[in-house]
Amino acid sequence: MAFEGLADRLQGTMKKITGKGKVSEQDVKEMTREVRLALLEADVNFKVVKDLIKRIKERATGQEVMESLTPGQQVIKVVKEELTELMGGEQSKIAVADRSPTVIMMVGLQGAGKTTTTGKLANHLRKNHNRSPLLVACDIYRPAAIKQLETLGTQLDMPVFSKGTEANPVDIASEAIEQAKAEHNDYVIIDTAGRLHVDTDLMDELEQIKSTVKPDEIFLVVDAMTGQDAVNVAESFNEQLDISGVVLTKLDGDTRGGAALSIKAVTDKPIKFAGMGEKLDELEAFHPERMASRILGMGDVLTLIEKAQTNVDEKQAKELEEKMRTASFTFDDFLEQMGQVKNMGPLDDLMGMIPGANKMKGLKNAQLDEKQLSHVEAIIQSMTKKERQEPSIMNASRKKRIAKGSGTSVSQVNRLLKQFDEMKKMMKQMTNMQKGKKGKGMKF
Ligand code: GDP
Repeated sequence: MAFEGLADRLQGTMKKITGKGKVSEQDVKEMTREVRLALLEADVNFKVVKDLIKRIKERATGQEVMESLTPGQQVIKVVKEELTELMGGEQSKIAVADRSPTVIMMVGLQGAGKTTTTGKLANHLRKNHNRSPLLVACDIYRPAAIKQLETLGTQLDMPVFSKGTEANPVDIASEAIEQAKAEHNDYVIIDTAGRLHVDTDLMDELEQIKSTVKPDEIFLVVDAMTGQDAVNVAESFNEQLDISGVVLTKLDGDTRGGAALSIKAVTDKPIKFAGMGEKLDELEAFHPERMASRILGMGDVLTLIEKAQTNVDEKQAKELEEKMRTASFTFDDFLEQMGQVKNMGPLDDLMGMIPGANKMKGLKNAQLDEKQLSHVEAIIQSMTKKERQEPSIMNASRKKRIAKGSGTSVSQVNRLLKQFDEMKKMMKQMTNMQKGKKGKGMKF
């Protein structure tokens, strides 16, 4: 998970100060020293760290903390607010032009995730804003890039404007906008060429496209895993093109956090989106406050709820509730549930959004093992339809077969059956409790 090292260290530091009824200057000094080291180790820009620590120190020794009844918590609030501010404060929304189409230009180095993000952004605009984007292939130097965008277009069932490798990128972009007008596409997303390094030819070309199509947004796509390099790249692109925002990709990886925490401070341009995986629905609007919350182990319940809302079918949820009430929940339902949770993204990431979850001992390694989940899935899939509904009919030889079929052991099969049985018992108890409450005329 992203920020893991940083989050662990900052949480350790914050824990020391949380319950303090009195915070001395020495406490603040120690705390800021630890925060400073943690940030530097996470590859956050040196100057950014220096300024941030100065602000935290001033506020932590100021009146708002010293006069508070819970100074320990006030200090943490200060750190969270400063981290939020560092990443841009408010969430930065995507532009909507007065005239249609709104034009977005995607720029960035090769391999940063520009083409994938073009597809993800189009998907986001359609899914969450009901828009109909046109994708434009302007990377004429790499036929593979054009092909990649066309494949994304097919996957998304969205139009892609391309003129192969012979046409001029400036012409391609302008013609695409004309087509979008004619076909009523309200967003045009231009995937431009990338290079391995920032070079003047590329910048000249991008400037020409910019001055011709006058985009409403220029999004620079940078790879979070590259840390300070991403920040340097952002600085050069911004100097040349005056970008409007950054998309930080690969935040699902093992990134230390340096790019996310430095980009806004260094370029004064906000991070607008974060790439959280290779799939087309793995793009999240970047919320500085939620991100700060995650880094400090306070969780991110809002994003979790949003994910649940988009991935869990309400009708299915209602049916499930009914099944739980009548205790007719079967292994088939269980399988379906697992599928829905999986759609929400990697478990590790989801756990990072639950407040305090990373502090629960054992959770970190034991239950988050996705391999274990796929074993559970395999076991259920090896059962017959009847067995899934009535697990008690499974005898020893069937269990052996199921273990073999699913590549697990009989004891794993037994464990799952036992857990399922316990879960059903618990559902029954909960239902009875609710009935009991109802009987006494309580509202809930
Ligand atoms: P481009 O050269 O900048 O257009 O980069 P691509 O879009 O081809 O992406 C390069 C690689 O990064 C591909 O393998 C993508 O699947 C991968 N990628 C892009 N965004 C993400 C992300 O948010 N997370 C992960 N894990 N991989 C990503």
